Amino acid sequence: MNRLLIIGAGGVGRVVTSKCAQHPEIFQEITLASRTVAKCDAIATDIKARGGDVRTAQVDADQVPELVRLIEKIKPDLLVNVALPYQDLTIMEACLQTGVHYLDTANYEHPDEARFCYAPQWAMHDRFVEAGLTAVLGCGFDPGVTNVYTAYARKHHFDRMDTVDIVDCNAGDHGYPFATNFNPEINIREVSANGRFFENGQWHETKPLEIHHRFDFPHAIGAKDIYLLYHEEMESLTRHYPEVRRMRFWMTFGQSYLTHLKVLENVGMTRIDPVIYEGKEIVPLQFLRKLLPDPASLGPRTVGKTCIGCWIAGEKDGKPQSYYLYNICDHQESYEETGAQAVSYTTGVPAALSAALVATGQWQGQGVFNIEQFDPDPFMKEIGPWGLPWEETFPPQQTFDETLLPL
Ligand code: NDP
Repeated sequence: MNRLLIIGAGGVGRVVTSKCAQHPEIFQEITLASRTVAKCDAIATDIKARGGDVRTAQVDADQVPELVRLIEKIKPDLLVNVALPYQDLTIMEACLQTGVHYLDTANYEHPDEARFCYAPQWAMHDRFVEAGLTAVLGCGFDPGVTNVYTAYARKHHFDRMDTVDIVDCNAGDHGYPFATNFNPEINIREVSANGRFFENGQWHETKPLEIHHRFDFPHAIGAKDIYLLYHEEMESLTRHYPEVRRMRFWMTFGQSYLTHLKVLENVGMTRIDPVIYEGKEIVPLQFLRKLLPDPASLGPRTVGKTCIGCWIAGEKDGKPQSYYLYNICDHQESYEETGAQAVSYTTGVPAALSAALVATGQWQGQGVFNIEQFDPDPFMKEIGPWGLPWEETFPPQQTFDETLLPL
């Protein structure tokens, strides 16, 4: 399985393509396709300058027939979708029609409703089984590495997991008063939605960013405010680990980001329903996206680190066990290697490694899978050498809440 088609030429597409091009022993032919072919060409030129080889193509991934035509021309064995979540279903459909394995980093979301969920992708399971194809969902960092961390923790360090807290910190600084580190539309829809967490078999809803605490991140990152959000990996992890009593997701935000977001919300700029402006229909959030810096342009100016990990409590050999497993990634080092900042890097590297594990047959299966359903060990062995080394501690505190600092 050596022919790869990558769709989406944003920051994440740049990293996936760069990392796969570093492994010609696995991927002998790589094509990067996207809506704007000039972006693919720019990435391919950079990769060529670093000694790699990538072809490019144009495609509108909202159109199944266009996708089918491209796939039939290129004849890939595996397709990596790093366009937007809106394109997940059309791309999966095209893979089914052409007999190609599928992998992505974000679960499906309808453009008109800010609520992502796996249901429409899971509903394609039987069709992937019948076609003898593998689809692996959510192979970025979160979802992605956080799911693998949970699977690895359960396999090696717990007989039972009681609580899982996923903690995502971007301590990077891009120097703009307001910008988002990945697609602004997707990012703002996620952050301005209601929060949700899972406890005692039920989902509990909060107002957007209503619950927040202060957490002391490892290394030089230090104490940061963390906010409870709903995040997509919780949907699959609560399904695959029903023993977990409580699961929450936390993300850090700077005060400037939050103040700007509040103002934009208050004036209606984050609305996703169309409004008529001078006789034309526009969606305010899509218009805002045009005004904000392109996340792919943040690479040269972003400094600092990210720290994303899972803090898990439960039981091992009849005794309470606490485990914190995380990665620290440096924005400038990511940029030097791939031309993209750490948020794109931490998403693109796991997607590239997951593609390698599928391509080499280390992850196999027929149907639609979330990444935690595969053996975490080959991923955990390779993810460090591929660029995202992990660290682990066994904290003395028995619960995540005991680690929180006063606000
Ligand atoms: P960008 O917006 O920077 O890039 C998206 C790319 O997809 C662009 O090249 C865009 O083309 C292309 N695209 C959009 N619509 C179409 C279409 N209809 N047909 C073909 N190409 C299209 O996003 P990012 O690179 O930041 O993110 C990529 C994906 O990664 C997103 O789905 C995001 O949600 C996911 N992600 C996942 C994370 C994780 O940890 N799991 C974290 C961060 C992101 P054009 O240039 O023409 O607009």
